[in-house]
Amino acid sequence: MKKIKVILLLIFFLINLQANNLSALGKKNEKSVSADDIQPKISSILREEWAPGLLLVAFLDVGQGDAIVIITPSKKVIVIDTGEYDGRSKKKSSDIISNFLKMYDIKKIDCMVLTHSHSDHIGGAYNLLKNFEVGEVWDTGHKSTSALYLKILNLIKEKKIKYIIPNVNDKIAVDTAVNIRVLHCLKTTSVKYLNTNNTSIVLKLEYNNFSTLFTGDIEAPIEKNLVDSDSVSLKAVVLKAPHHGSSTSNSIDFLKAVAPQFTVISVGQNNRYNHPSQTVLNRYKEFSDMKLFRTDQQGTIEMLTDGKELKVKLQVPVDFEKLYKFFRY
Ligand SMILES: [Zn+2]
Repeated sequence: MKKIKVILLLIFFLINLQANNLSALGKKNEKSVSADDIQPKISSILREEWAPGLLLVAFLDVGQGDAIVIITPSKKVIVIDTGEYDGRSKKKSSDIISNFLKMYDIKKIDCMVLTHSHSDHIGGAYNLLKNFEVGEVWDTGHKSTSALYLKILNLIKEKKIKYIIPNVNDKIAVDTAVNIRVLHCLKTTSVKYLNTNNTSIVLKLEYNNFSTLFTGDIEAPIEKNLVDSDSVSLKAVVLKAPHHGSSTSNSIDFLKAVAPQFTVISVGQNNRYNHPSQTVLNRYKEFSDMKLFRTDQQGTIEMLTDGKELKVKLQVPVDFEKLYKFFRY
């Protein structure tokens, strides 16, 4: 595990590519921007670690699955999903998440969100619940008979951890500086489209001008519901691409409504589902101002912000030329 820590500390690469640099590379940026638009730039400020007042959103490379750690400005900790079940994954998710938390000297997870009960999202939860103090667990509440899920529920009960099945508009209130609310959950999933993916808890996080949309594995019908019901709330600086970039999801109208400046696809190398879909990748290329990061290519992706500027740290560097080509269309 020492090896992982060294890699994280030494190889993290600071991209200080600013919007101007893109212009210098010949990219046109003709979109007019109103003062109210959210426009954090990728900063060159050399602040290597979280400090009070900063928000850290880290998309951890746990192979095929999702695991996101949020450290709020007053150092409250939210973990959204916990990667694949250790026994089935090449990467031991619970160790990766634990090591990351230890790197930031974190002993308590204030809120753990399990977006839905599939093993690539709840896989590391048991060990984390066992080894960390956990304030509360948010679960979509969709009944699952999987042994892994039931084991987790039992442990929550055993340890008397606050257990919450949220409703739409409920807020994760661990830090008043950050607004995190539910846009979709089991309770807003129509019977017609009811499957485990579609029960995913969808969260919108806002901190000053910064925002992120966490989507679990929702599929196109839920994306459409969200666009139809409240497309304004979907707009976000960062999008966690739904369902590992699968073609079941990431519909064009949804992407247009979110209009992200950064998208993260959390996905394992050479996974058996062929995620992300090439069709979806082509769709994302149509968004010329957006930068796409993938955990199978960039490793763990950390975003650090004061709500105005954004610093992105990638575990595996992206050279500017390649980045430019990647986003050319
Ligand atoms: Zn998944």
